[in-house]
Amino acid sequence: MHPEVEKLLKLQETDLQVQHYNGRIELLPKQLAALEAKLNGTLQALEANKQRIAKTASERKKLEGGIQDLEAKNSKYRGQLTDVKTNEQYRALLHEIDFNEKEVRKIEDSILVLMEQDEALRKELQTIERQLQQEKALVESEKKAAQAEVARDREILAELERQQEVLTRSVEPAVLSTYRRIGKFRKGVALARATQESCQACHVRIRPHVVSQVMAGEQIVTCDSCSRILYWKPDAPYEASS
Ligand SMILES: [Zn+2]
Repeated sequence: MHPEVEKLLKLQETDLQVQHYNGRIELLPKQLAALEAKLNGTLQALEANKQRIAKTASERKKLEGGIQDLEAKNSKYRGQLTDVKTNEQYRALLHEIDFNEKEVRKIEDSILVLMEQDEALRKELQTIERQLQQEKALVESEKKAAQAEVARDREILAELERQQEVLTRSVEPAVLSTYRRIGKFRKGVALARATQESCQACHVRIRPHVVSQVMAGEQIVTCDSCSRILYWKPDAPYEASS
């Protein structure tokens, strides 16, 4: 193989690895957001429960206000009992007082129902809060794992970039600029393996004398069809797809 092409092949591998690890690192914010979103269902259940508790409390307050009103009326009526002139008026007041007392008992029953509801809701709230704590702990550990993985990726990337720099400096500038130019419009893959039959990137046939040139490795040969730099290696580390 042409010595410059051999270096390019190593550079190509490193470049692709750098691309790969950069892609993984860039995914981290999305990964973390997806983990956070796992809590949404439970957070919504918690919010709904709290709203129901608040609603129950305000209903209860309203009912208690009703009782106060009825009791105030009755105490007024009781005061009037001594002032009434006729038996009929007296009975009418007693009837009114009795009616209000029955109303008060009905409202008290409703308040009891609300108190039972409130108790059930608070139990449910505790369950949801416990569930949320567990889920949060799980998400937190998953986030830590994702961050640790990215930290490892960053270390690998730093080493790859160091190699990339050394390799880049080792390649002849003219060859390097050809490599960069081809890579730009070939999704970062500027090299292609040649076989007896064809270029393994674009699958177009290679003329026999070009194949011989690639095998000889005395000059840099590019594919007539896709312009990639051709190399000869029976077991290729990767294949570019066209
Ligand atoms: Zn080709």
